[in-house]
Amino acid sequence: METADVLIIGGGIVGASIAWHLTEAGCRNVLIVERESHQGKGSTGKSMGGVRAQFATKPNIQMSLYSIPFYAAFEERLGQPSDYRPQGYMFVATKPSHLEYLKTNQALQKSLGLKNVGMVSREEIVERVPQLRSDDILGGSFCSTDGFVDPNSVMVGFTTVAHDRGAKLWRSTEVTAIRRNGSGFEVDTARGPVSTKTIVNAAGPWAREVASMAGVDLPVEPLRRMLVPTEPFDSVSHAIPMVIDMTNGFHFRPESLGFLLAWNDPTETPGFKEAFEPTFIEKILERAADRVPCFENLAINPKRAWAGLYEMTPDHHCILGPAPGVEGFFCANGFSGHGVMHAPATGKILADLITTGKTAVVDDVTVLSPARFAKGELLHETAVL
Ligand SMILES: Cc1cc2nc3c(=O)[nH]c(=O)nc-3n(C[C@H](O)[C@H](O)[C@H](O)COP(=O)(O)OP(=O)(O)OC[C@H]3O[C@@H](n4cnc5c(N)ncnc54)[C@H](O)[C@@H]3O)c2cc1C
Repeated sequence: METADVLIIGGGIVGASIAWHLTEAGCRNVLIVERESHQGKGSTGKSMGGVRAQFATKPNIQMSLYSIPFYAAFEERLGQPSDYRPQGYMFVATKPSHLEYLKTNQALQKSLGLKNVGMVSREEIVERVPQLRSDDILGGSFCSTDGFVDPNSVMVGFTTVAHDRGAKLWRSTEVTAIRRNGSGFEVDTARGPVSTKTIVNAAGPWAREVASMAGVDLPVEPLRRMLVPTEPFDSVSHAIPMVIDMTNGFHFRPESLGFLLAWNDPTETPGFKEAFEPTFIEKILERAADRVPCFENLAINPKRAWAGLYEMTPDHHCILGPAPGVEGFFCANGFSGHGVMHAPATGKILADLITTGKTAVVDDVTVLSPARFAKGELLHETAVL
């Protein structure tokens, strides 16, 4: 029977980062099992690639403080580009309560060591993006080290180096069952059984199904998110940051020769819905033209728009660490829209917990533990896009 020191279920950006960080910690007998014929067919390949440290809670900010510098140094360390573009995230406030919210978050961000973040006036916002309708803008916030990465390139970079160091990747191999075997596990896969002492669930939106194979109840729900790329458009600069209209959550960033438009439709309901809904285009264009009047002239090819799944948890924070009652079964799930930006920190945290039982990436990793739901100790993140 095949044996692995650590078996990672799911070969997306999170599984790949965990594999790399484990090999970095000296653990070589790592096996990633991925059911698709190639990596990135889950949420990773659908992502907007945004990275930011402008969050409202300590664990999310601290995970970004590990991940963003990691992305900046990615090519130097791994020999593969992350395509990190520090063009910033600019939150645009239209109500006094938005400004208070941004100021409160910024105090926490700065206390944890985030530099390059500050409040900006309406004039500064308009200077950065003159095409915005600004009559109702009160100000906002900007962090210059926030920006974008290429999730696919990052995933491939992590996997390639982990593989060079001895980690294995089995593609087209579904995990179908997990059984206790003494102090370890026997895992059924499409390529036959694997014996291991340590399993990491990195199955993205399918995390709940994988956890249930080990008898773990994991509150992760898939939620469809849709993105609309525009055709080439040069009436707005391609050097602008990610712009977030706090009035309704509409946000956009430059992508290739056009722009990538995003909006969280509040009427969306959980489920494995991966088809793009064409009526979404009209809804998002209405919000786009409201904030950026020249976007009225955007050309859209509906065939290029896509949908993917967020992996939502009840408190919009990821679930990291050992599952209570199932020794050796670790979770790296429920990123609630932040799995690309937090993949480096997640890899480091999981490798730390597996090899040493503790981590310094966040002050208190137990607040992210799967045990928090049964104890009723939920976190609260409001800066969710
Ligand atoms: C439209 C959209 C926009 C987003 N924008 C951003 C963003 O701007 N910034 C950001 O940080 N995040 C963003 N996200 C979220 C981010 O993409 C995810 O959080 C992240 O990709 C999760 O990575 P993962 O590796 O955990 O999951 P996935 O990439 O889904 O990988 C999980 C893998 O597990 C495999 N798998 C599942 N079950 C099994 C099984 N039984 N056996 C074997 N393999 C299995 C799947 O095939 C899959 O490849 C976005 C997501 C969407 C949908």
